[in-house]
Amino acid sequence: MSEQPRSRRQTRAAILGHLLQSGGMFRPPLAKAVRLSEASLSRILFDLKAEGLIEEVRRPAPYFGGPTGLVSLDGSVALAAIELNGQRLSVGVGSMSGELHYTERLPLPKAPTIESVGRVFLEALTLLHDWTRRRRIRLSQIGVSVPGLGRLSVSGNPIIPCDVGRMRSMFGELLAGVPVTFTNSVVAHATFHRCRTEDYPFSGTHLFVFVGQGVAGAWVDDAIEADALQPVELGHMVFGEGGPRCRCGHDGCVEAYTSLPALAGLLGVPEPELLQLGSDWVMAIPISPRVRQELRHRLYRLGLAIGNTLNVKPCGGVAISGWPSLLADDDRKALVDGIDACLLGGRKLAQVSLAFVPPSNGNDPRAALAFAAFCFACRGGMPAASTEAA
Ligand SMILES: [Zn+2]
Repeated sequence: MSEQPRSRRQTRAAILGHLLQSGGMFRPPLAKAVRLSEASLSRILFDLKAEGLIEEVRRPAPYFGGPTGLVSLDGSVALAAIELNGQRLSVGVGSMSGELHYTERLPLPKAPTIESVGRVFLEALTLLHDWTRRRRIRLSQIGVSVPGLGRLSVSGNPIIPCDVGRMRSMFGELLAGVPVTFTNSVVAHATFHRCRTEDYPFSGTHLFVFVGQGVAGAWVDDAIEADALQPVELGHMVFGEGGPRCRCGHDGCVEAYTSLPALAGLLGVPEPELLQLGSDWVMAIPISPRVRQELRHRLYRLGLAIGNTLNVKPCGGVAISGWPSLLADDDRKALVDGIDACLLGGRKLAQVSLAFVPPSNGNDPRAALAFAAFCFACRGGMPAASTEAA
């Protein structure tokens, strides 16, 4: 138990973060989780309730002590979510608990350019602006999820052509004053799973791996802090020369073997059709023994990439989402074997536990909405400008 002093913002963030990840908690376990006395918690909950950030219903608790308050996030806090992927840009407005009240999906051109993606982005912001203005809804936070966003994006995005700087400036023109946070899509998906998956397998530091249109990872930390999730480009780990061409410009990346576009040729399905199916191809497309064998080779390679990532930065857990999570145990075993084969001492000795979580692609913009909720919780529900001083 850390005894470091916490600011008001950090204490409020811890409370809102626990409510976000649990969906609602009784007062006594909440006080324990955020390391406050019930009296101190009571004072802060009073403020949060007065600000319309939480609600509380009296309910019999499932333990000794009689009725107490079940605290949950108030449904009236409005968040906006914008999610970019290879086919479309999704925009939505929803609540802290993940309900979407408005969604619009705008298709991207087949060969997107910085200009055309920028135009679709502006169209999405205009729709968002009009929808919220007509209903007099004041947005508390906007979350924007972009694949491949990271250091490289300073000089251009290697995954989807877009100018993040220009996209940022569009908010100032249309939605001035609303805090906006951009993130890598794998961070948004990791946030979505951590907040919305019932019985999510890890609570401490772990590696989240997403295998879909691309292959990416994120380090996930327990803290309710803006830097608690960090993308890791394990999909672009190169395995020798002469491999298939990757969209990042290199040859032989693990993504060029295991992403959905990489599987299209192997499965004999046109890429757009496979992307449309997403992870569900596992149920929809029958595969021959020859294809299965090659698939297992590729899963083994993905396992090596994950194991190598853990060799570089050890941690106790790996959550794998995307199409491999829908496979039968026999097929998944190849991935697990790959991890075992390169992780120093093997998985058991390295004390790494592994869990497959259901895929979350195709539900856009829910991942960006979960990320917006996380950003709002990190601020302790306070205005963006006041968090530094608090
Ligand atoms: Zn690559």
